[in-house]
Amino acid sequence: MATAPSDELASRRRAAVTVGAAVAPDLDFAWRLLDGVNHHQAQGHSIGVGLGLAVAVMLGAAAVQVPRPWGLGLAALGGWSSHLLLDLLNVDTSPPMGLMALWPFTDRYFKSPWPVFLDIGRTLNWRTVRHVTVATAWELAILCPLLIAAWRGRARPRAGAWNGARVREQISG
Ligand SMILES: [Zn+2]
Repeated sequence: MATAPSDELASRRRAAVTVGAAVAPDLDFAWRLLDGVNHHQAQGHSIGVGLGLAVAVMLGAAAVQVPRPWGLGLAALGGWSSHLLLDLLNVDTSPPMGLMALWPFTDRYFKSPWPVFLDIGRTLNWRTVRHVTVATAWELAILCPLLIAAWRGRARPRAGAWNGARVREQISG
């Protein structure tokens, strides 16, 4: 039986794929272990790799017969893209500035001219720890209200909205 879209929105599998894809771009820090070169915010922070990940997730989901595998691919792309969007909106003080967001279509680095979030230090000293604490508090102050609004909007279905799960329950008694 196919899964209804309303069920998929509450799916733990979809949530795990979305969250995993949303944090995955920062795995490019680990590339340095392979060749000693800093690859952070280069190709690993691009829509090209995000599209490749989405296709891989979709093919993997189809291989194990997950219903609507393209939905999981879109969830991966959405999570990945949210990371790029949020990184575009922060202050960047480590050259090269910005993200190679549109690779492989262009090698240019992009950065929002209107930063919203603070930069994150990468050294381990008290000054950096204090700065990162403030930056994290600022991010939470901005993002938590959005998260709460999204959660509350999700919890209240619109009157007359299609609810496949409820209809199936009513049909099956
Ligand atoms: Zn990042």
